[in-house]
Amino acid sequence: MAETIFQKIIDKEIPTEIVYEDDLCIAFKDINPAAPIHLIVIPKKPIESVDDVAEEDEAIVGHLFFAMGKIAKQQGIDRGYRVVTNNGRDAGQEVMHLHFHMLAGRGFSWPPG
Ligand code: 5GP
Repeated sequence: MAETIFQKIIDKEIPTEIVYEDDLCIAFKDINPAAPIHLIVIPKKPIESVDDVAEEDEAIVGHLFFAMGKIAKQQGIDRGYRVVTNNGRDAGQEVMHLHFHMLAGRGFSWPPG
């Protein structure tokens, strides 16, 4: 797959406010926040989208959710947050590297737009 901007973030090639990192994933502040707290959580493995998650990736994807729970506590998010993944064109996926948005710090309506 073509190198994405998120690969450059993993490789520390562009300045980014990283809030969490371990062997399998990295989380950083979104450059264009849609909420007072807007983090992007990604696997270090370059999986393009939900559609591209292979059976061998199950542990990685599970780890992302484990990490998000830890990050929420570390960030002091105690009133809830929304986790979003945009998969494909209709959902508005712009960066073709699997990622979860963690949004917090305000209320969120449902259904989403
Ligand atoms: P998508 O629409 O693909 O679900 O979301 C991609 C997200 O990545 C957007 O919210 C966008 O603001 C964020 N983003 C894109 N490029 C950069 C970047 O270079 N740095 C950071 N920190 N976030 C980025």
